[in-house]
Amino acid sequence: MVEARAGGICEYCRSLRRFVPEPFNVEHIIPVAHSGKTEARNLAWACAGCNYHKGDKIEGIDPQTGRRLRLFNPRRHRWKDHFAWNEDATLMIGLTATGRATINALRLNREELINLRWALRTLNLHPP
Ligand SMILES: [Zn+2]
Repeated sequence: MVEARAGGICEYCRSLRRFVPEPFNVEHIIPVAHSGKTEARNLAWACAGCNYHKGDKIEGIDPQTGRRLRLFNPRRHRWKDHFAWNEDATLMIGLTATGRATINALRLNREELINLRWALRTLNLHPP
């Protein structure tokens, strides 16, 4: 159900599951450690890397202002309101403080993601 809702892509970094070797996970947007519930509105589908970097975090630091902010919530926020791609679609750009804090906390421009985006872009499979 969570997987189908996500449409085959990580709800944070937008990687296509069929090209990522590690398994994807249903993750708690508000972690159980912060009393997040296991219910559809608190669950997202994430690649192993995003899930690992998110861990039990609910906040990240906006590198532009140093402010601590709640992370992007795929159930409450629209990806396009907070993120965009750079010119060659290899880097995610934070359009808002929330977007920047989330890119920072989840390392959404990890080297392997940049490489994957570049490769998929050449096959016209990215951005999704
Ligand atoms: Zn991801």
